[in-house]
Amino acid sequence: MSAILAPVAAATEESPMTDGFHLVIDALKLNGITTLYGLPGIPITDLTRKAQGEGMRVISFRHEQNAGNAAAIAGFLTGKPGVCLTVSAPGFLNGLTALANATINCFPMILISGSSEREIVDLQQGDYEEMDQLAIARTLCKAAFRVLHAEDIGVGIARAIRSAVSGRPGGVYLDLPAKLFAQTMDAAAGRRSLIEVVDPAPLQIPASEAVQRALDLLKSAKKPLILLGKGAAYARADAEVRALVERTGIPYLPMSMAKGLLPDTHELSASAARSFVLPEADVVLLVGARLNWLLSHGKGKTWGGKDAKAWGGQKFIQIDISPTEADSNVRIDAPLVGDIGSCVSALLAGMGADWPRAPADWVQAVAERRNKNVAKMADTLAKDPKPMNFHSALNVVRDIVKANPDAMLVNEGANALDFTRAIVDMYKPRKRIDVGTWGVMGIGMGFAVAAAVEIGQPVIAIEGDSAFGFSGMEVETICRYQLPVCVVILNNNGVYRGTDKNLGGGSDVAPTVFVKDARYEKLIEAFGGVGVYATTPAELRQGMEQAIRSRKPTLINAIIDETAGTESGRITNLNPQRQAAASSSA
Ligand code: ADP
Repeated sequence: MSAILAPVAAATEESPMTDGFHLVIDALKLNGITTLYGLPGIPITDLTRKAQGEGMRVISFRHEQNAGNAAAIAGFLTGKPGVCLTVSAPGFLNGLTALANATINCFPMILISGSSEREIVDLQQGDYEEMDQLAIARTLCKAAFRVLHAEDIGVGIARAIRSAVSGRPGGVYLDLPAKLFAQTMDAAAGRRSLIEVVDPAPLQIPASEAVQRALDLLKSAKKPLILLGKGAAYARADAEVRALVERTGIPYLPMSMAKGLLPDTHELSASAARSFVLPEADVVLLVGARLNWLLSHGKGKTWGGKDAKAWGGQKFIQIDISPTEADSNVRIDAPLVGDIGSCVSALLAGMGADWPRAPADWVQAVAERRNKNVAKMADTLAKDPKPMNFHSALNVVRDIVKANPDAMLVNEGANALDFTRAIVDMYKPRKRIDVGTWGVMGIGMGFAVAAAVEIGQPVIAIEGDSAFGFSGMEVETICRYQLPVCVVILNNNGVYRGTDKNLGGGSDVAPTVFVKDARYEKLIEAFGGVGVYATTPAELRQGMEQAIRSRKPTLINAIIDETAGTESGRITNLNPQRQAAASSSA
């Protein structure tokens, strides 16, 4: 580790000195952080240069939000905090959306922003990009710190790392005022001030009574279900989770980013029987999944409740590292607080050799429903409509992912998200990254860049044409670093679809409509990448296969029927007008 503490600007033979720039770089490297995502500018330009000079990988973006999203997903994919660097005020604010999104998704991330002179900011005297960034960030992330003195940089970085990855992971803000970078101090003292964080994400062992309570409840189940969330994917307890499912024979349902923890083709997967198992199950074991809106808050018709708010009668066991997660929506009968690896291991250990397998009639009923739905889907996928629709295009993607199970899949959009999640099977853990807990648009190219950088495998980004627009300029970044990213835009000429009419009858197109037959593939050609215009499944297949083979940055403009796509995809019910209609008819 000592090699990383290479010397310093302003050093002399007699009294080697170090400075704020180098202390930040050395502190990050000491803790195994070797990549920075960011966007240079005052006051962090030299930090990016020097970091690169000191052997760090610095990935420079065109907009801070994309750099922030890259850092956030790097955190999810590696289990180490992803670091995003931004300039002050506006750059900081651009990065803040990603920091908040990381926090809400439990991704470990550190947003480091340069800031203006404290004395001027606090007296509001009007500095360049003046803003009290620390105060603003504090409300939107897990923890926020500011470092004013070079000798405190080691502590600041250590606290940021520990806060990001320990317990429930999340986003951390680190405020570094411009003046800090130029501060100098004795190099040896600087070295001593740095902290290599010991055990940044300690295991959290569950209490034995809690384990027994969970086992007792699970044993009483006639129709048990395991629900895997992205916390289970993050926890990297892949073998334990698989053993839990296979040892008990309990059907499991993966949330979108937990797909692939066990292959979607596994005989106990209930993915294709979701609307059957949720209302039918009597005991549900949640593993790193929250009962938030994505699971209809654990109640209502989705769960077999009589009306939208009624409890469906299920009992819940919840494994989560956060002790306050239980009971946030419905009663959790057996909370199991701890890290997923330790909790699942404890359950397995407590089961003993004679643990009964899940009741055969239930497992059989789930399998029958799943097989019926899979067959129905196969019929739909076999059709070849002209123009292409979501199904015929995604049938190609499904084949390509099957043939390349190590490839990373990025996915965002409305219909492009819903259909991809349902149609494209995943085969390995942590290969699918998407809009997550907020259902946010704009993660696409940031996630794609980080996935390529961190994992080194080909990346396939399935994008709605609307979703792509939020981060599309980063195709230049993809080309600049020659990343093996294949972007597929499912282009139906608008938000949801391209056929909406202007309700006022004027000459402007409707707010949801884009330029017809836009040639998105030419965007990437402008930067030396490969553009493909695909109107048939065969053209799409050829383009994707070529992209994966060549590892060249590629953008495929896949032309979809512009009438295909429903308003808001699967979450139409969240639109206010629909909600008003539903409540007036209730
Ligand atoms: P999904 O959207 O896939 O349902 P959520 O983001 O809602 O998943 O839930 C993830 C949950 O996993 C969070 O409540 C978080 O506290 C928990 N979690 C994250 N990492 C771990 C871990 N290592 N051990 C236990 N729980 C974890």
